[in-house]
Amino acid sequence: MTTDPTAPRPLPGAGRSRTDTPGPDTPGPGGPASPTGPVDPVRDPWRPVMGLALDQARAALPGGDVPVGAVVLAPDGATVLSVGHNEREATGDPTAHAEVLALRRAAAARGEWRLPGCTLVVTLEPCVMCAGALVQARVDRVVYGARDEKAGAAGSLWDLVRDRRLNHRPEVVEGVLADDCARLLTDFFRTR
Ligand code: ZN
Repeated sequence: MTTDPTAPRPLPGAGRSRTDTPGPDTPGPGGPASPTGPVDPVRDPWRPVMGLALDQARAALPGGDVPVGAVVLAPDGATVLSVGHNEREATGDPTAHAEVLALRRAAAARGEWRLPGCTLVVTLEPCVMCAGALVQARVDRVVYGARDEKAGAAGSLWDLVRDRRLNHRPEVVEGVLADDCARLLTDFFRTR
């Protein structure tokens, strides 16, 4: 045998395995705890999938697009339904934001426009268009990394997704791998 089933296994997007906290290794939707700092039971479970969204964000760079990436998870909170990254420059489409593309692909995969129970994970706080799209898609939850103080519509400039006048209001988890998500954007704009 070459594998030890009891050994910690790094999950997708997790750079390091869990070493700072004892106890059973069952942290919710499949993630190790924060490798640095205190355990964050709200954000830590989303770190691996945010790692996938960060991979998507980097995939936007060759096309000259702002590096924002998104992943849609199925209702089980683990199965990846779709991914997307910004393609405005690559396609000349003003609506080709990572979230819109990921939602379209998730709907295509599911065969319907409603995505109840699904989670949208994105590296940057959604804009008004994308916040509107995820409300329209009826996703249960949006998880994002960096805040967008200039155009964010999920808590910063607006809070469209939790507007009490709307019937459908997704849960919001913000600040997952926020520094990594923000650094990618800062580096991109610095080199332009
Ligand atoms: Zn957007």
